[in-house]
Amino acid sequence: MTVDLLIRDAYLYIDRDWEVANGWLAIRNGRVHAIGDRAGDAPAARTVISARGRLVTPGLVNAHHHMYQNLTRAYAPVTNGTLFEWLKGLYPLWAGLDEEAVYLSTCVAMVELLMGGCTTSMDHMYVHPRPFLIDAQFRAARDVGFRFHATRGSMTRSVEDGGLPPASVVQDEDTILADSERLVAAFHDPAPGAMGRVALAPCSLFSVSERIMTESARLAEKHDLRLHTHLAEDPDEDAYCAEIYGCTPTEYFERVGWASPRSWVAHYIYPTGDEIDRLAHAGVCTAQCPCSNMMIGGGTADAMDMRRRGMRVGLGCDGSASTDHASMWLETRMAMLLGRFRHGPHAMSARDALDMATRGGAACLGWEDEIGHLRLGACADLVIWSMSEVAAAGALSDPVEAWLRCAPAVAGTTIVNGKVLVADGVPLLANLGDILRDHAREARRIQRLDG
Ligand SMILES: [Zn+2]
Repeated sequence: MTVDLLIRDAYLYIDRDWEVANGWLAIRNGRVHAIGDRAGDAPAARTVISARGRLVTPGLVNAHHHMYQNLTRAYAPVTNGTLFEWLKGLYPLWAGLDEEAVYLSTCVAMVELLMGGCTTSMDHMYVHPRPFLIDAQFRAARDVGFRFHATRGSMTRSVEDGGLPPASVVQDEDTILADSERLVAAFHDPAPGAMGRVALAPCSLFSVSERIMTESARLAEKHDLRLHTHLAEDPDEDAYCAEIYGCTPTEYFERVGWASPRSWVAHYIYPTGDEIDRLAHAGVCTAQCPCSNMMIGGGTADAMDMRRRGMRVGLGCDGSASTDHASMWLETRMAMLLGRFRHGPHAMSARDALDMATRGGAACLGWEDEIGHLRLGACADLVIWSMSEVAAAGALSDPVEAWLRCAPAVAGTTIVNGKVLVADGVPLLANLGDILRDHAREARRIQRLDG
């Protein structure tokens, strides 16, 4: 049988506890079809790529992002603000978002993610000054060829109600719930190998009403969806919850019915050990965002401690306005450095970090059966990594450790659903130049740099 694509001469990281030196991997109909370590056993293929001894891993899975924020990257007036300060500084600009701006920013985000070795991403889209913005994101995902887990984010609480954002970017409860139902009907594909799914994602405990939290949990149950929100990201959130709800963020999260295997949360920096144990036991997963946390400087989750307590932990690059890049390789490296910085050199290996970036992210998205590994039958989402010969010189004994320790690795070839989307480090999207030009125009408009 002739397969669609054969990758040979590779160091294959298939999954934790399964690596093949000098192996081959065959792809057929968008799935991993066969794996071997003897060149003579490899099937005939329509396309053959020699990895020339380079590391091949599953595509990394991004478990937390805000793609639209690349329209306000490194925005000078707020670069040195606290989380709440930069949110308050940027919300008025984000009120300018429309379908065109969201389409372009999503295309840019997805191409950037592909170049950093990510093949599936969620997006937490919670600013809705105009309708149909997530529809525009699905158009972008289709045009790029990216596997996309959208989340219908929401905010109901504006400055007038004690929240942070201006009234122009919040919505009433009925509008949010009706649009959630509409998006699920239009875009959520529960079938195996789906290229698009939808989850529900109120922005944070301090930006939505209790009814949105409870009704989102109910809708998720009804349609079998994932649930996502920011949780315990900042000490200001503790103070807010104590004052408004009379409890901690985790206690409130439990009270509104979110402590379930459907849920994954971003950050989760300030829980107690007992609270981590409770959510781990309930099956809640966490997305750690190392660079964002360090950029904001407000602390970071102890990922290895969470893993020891039985919680699944993925990684996220978070919104560009806080992190300003979307390389999941960089997030994976930073996760490893954070773990070792906190607990010493025995605390965390490159394989631990890679497991978080693959299996951990897939667990967050509830998609571990098909992505985050390259076992037979998995989605054919994978990366052939590239590093300069200079940076890799002398790294001979462990390709996985070398991948994360030596200087920047980028995706040489990125494959999603069996299709090559980045080749020799270059994105293959035909109209990328036009998209970047139009993105620059929209970024200037949103940042009010014109006129
Ligand atoms: Zn976030």
